[in-house]
Amino acid sequence: MLLTNHVLSGALIGALARRPAPAFAVGVASHFALDAVPHWGDWGSIRRFLQVAVPDGLISLAAMGTLTALAPADRRPAVLAGMIGAALPDVDKPSKLWFGFTPWPRAVDEFHQRIQPEASGRAHIELLAAACFGAAALAALRRPARCADLR
Ligand SMILES: [Zn+2]
Repeated sequence: MLLTNHVLSGALIGALARRPAPAFAVGVASHFALDAVPHWGDWGSIRRFLQVAVPDGLISLAAMGTLTALAPADRRPAVLAGMIGAALPDVDKPSKLWFGFTPWPRAVDEFHQRIQPEASGRAHIELLAAACFGAAALAALRRPARCADLR
């Protein structure tokens, strides 16, 4: 799954969780759940992978900055934690590219690789997911705080 979709779903999780620690934990779990859904991938070459991954990484950073700025101050830490948790498992990609190793134990890397039902020609799934997660995150961020949160 594109990093942008992990970030957008992490923002949604943070907006709903409202507390940073659960948002981070659910964000990490959501990463593996989304990676297990059939999605775009199977790039065939490192060049093709980078043609998608570099813009995706830049869009993800822009989305993280924008959603952090848009989040109400009381929910901002949870939104940021949700996005970081949801994106964190994919730090192995730039780490492998730039430093030649992944920061995760081999078992995590193997699990992360094994659960990916990737195929080319599925960009539409990523775009649809981005639209849904983005719209849901924005809607959740616009919801007023619950009475319990005001005490
Ligand atoms: Zn992943």
